[in-house]
Amino acid sequence: MHELGTIHYVIDTVEKLAVENDLTKIGSVTLEVGEVSGIIPSFLSDYWEYAKKKTRFLQDAELIIETIHAVTYCQNCGKTYPTLEYAKICPHCGSDNTFLVTGNEYMIKEIEAM
Ligand SMILES: [Zn+2]
Repeated sequence: MHELGTIHYVIDTVEKLAVENDLTKIGSVTLEVGEVSGIIPSFLSDYWEYAKKKTRFLQDAELIIETIHAVTYCQNCGKTYPTLEYAKICPHCGSDNTFLVTGNEYMIKEIEAM
């Protein structure tokens, strides 16, 4: 399960940060999730509600999910385009010599302490 691993990663990272920075309570965590990362945001929210109860600093923390739009680069014509719309075929020149630049990742963008 992609989503479960993601939530564990977020909780571990934020709890470490809280200890290092002497924070006592986290109000919210903003997580950016790539459009083609395969992570389903509603699953993330469900796991979050369940997992945060066992944490030290995140019991009342809200998970805010933002989307990273997926972008693909065409090596043939050097242009980029939105991945979700055109997938692997470049809409500018029709080449399939393309690769994903962004949209396959997730990262913690912001942590708000209370
Ligand atoms: Zn192209």
